[in-house]
Amino acid sequence: MFYKGFSPYEISMLKVAVNGYGTIGRRVARAVSLQDDMQVVGVIKARPDYIARMLTDRFRLYAPDQERLKVFEQNGLHVEGDLSNLLDEAEVVIDCTPEGQGEKNRPVYLKSGVRAVFQGGEESSIADASFNAYANYDQSSGKSMVRVVSCNTTGLARTLSPLRDSLGLKRVNATLVRRATDQNDSSKGPINAIEPSLGFPSHHAPDLRTVLGDIDVESVAIKVPTTLMHVHSVEALLEKPASREDILSEWSGFRRILEISGKDGRKSTAQVMDMAREMGRDRSDLYEIAVWKESVHVNGNTLRYIQAIHQESDVVPENVDALRSMFEVADRETSINRTDSKLEIGRK
Ligand code: NAD
Repeated sequence: MFYKGFSPYEISMLKVAVNGYGTIGRRVARAVSLQDDMQVVGVIKARPDYIARMLTDRFRLYAPDQERLKVFEQNGLHVEGDLSNLLDEAEVVIDCTPEGQGEKNRPVYLKSGVRAVFQGGEESSIADASFNAYANYDQSSGKSMVRVVSCNTTGLARTLSPLRDSLGLKRVNATLVRRATDQNDSSKGPINAIEPSLGFPSHHAPDLRTVLGDIDVESVAIKVPTTLMHVHSVEALLEKPASREDILSEWSGFRRILEISGKDGRKSTAQVMDMAREMGRDRSDLYEIAVWKESVHVNGNTLRYIQAIHQESDVVPENVDALRSMFEVADRETSINRTDSKLEIGRK
């Protein structure tokens, strides 16, 4: 199979299409457009709503198919073409369509010879590799189909992979308190209930192994009525003994992990997201995983900590890095540094 842009020498500005312009797609499109080595050639929106009207100042708008293209035009919106037209322009597509739609789009991408990045709502079997920049950047090198793992799995992989590499991980036990839905969604719940995942383990444990390797992991997930963030309580059995200070010092070398403290008022996800708003980031996003310093506790070889995940944005830098790994245009450190610099990750 011939894939466009296969040789690193053919690439100047990587031409990226974004299919699906919802919570993840619009953030990924912006992050790609900020980079020096890639550009957004167009985005696909399914409906002619207010977001479609607002995006045409920033990106070229395409429709999923000819039928929906007509609906856009009937609503007075100029559309450049449909998915097949956009794929003609692109070397790679980042699929940010709702869970399950990526699987339907996969054969279309394959047929057009365009490489693809999928999101964590898809099964891992959709891609040649699952991706997290800290945990397994090189495993996506030269691949044509890659899946960035979900927001929760990204959160766990971020804080656990430095420990895997420095101290070794024997076993992980994670309890995930999940937000019910995102801030722009009024169709999902629960709004007055706590909903545990009933199968054991929850799907997060096997998903984490796709990027962290063959580690003994267990997970449970509990959905609660909030839209701000997820919170994880993690227990990890380390191979080598370490002090609490060793753990904090290890994490301090990774910009996408942010140490926070309840002592200065950041006691809950409400204040953590308020801090993100004060940081003045686009859409008040917090790309970093926030770990509460006070929660980090070591007893023998057992480490415990609590972290908060901004589900709408932690996967955004990962999508950018996944492209550089697939096209072999930068090593892990270079890619992460470039992405972080453009997204101002690590800026105090
Ligand atoms: P979303 O519903 O917010 O956005 C999806 C967008 O795709 C919407 O704009 C929708 O109108 C559009 N769409 C629907 N059908 C389409 C089609 N056939 N072609 C093109 N566009 C179409 O969803 P999301 O939250 O952005 O999730 C996208 C993916 O990212 C999923 O796999 C999800 O599991 C994953 N993800 C979501 C989050 C999160 O917290 N929202 C976090 C990490 C990963």
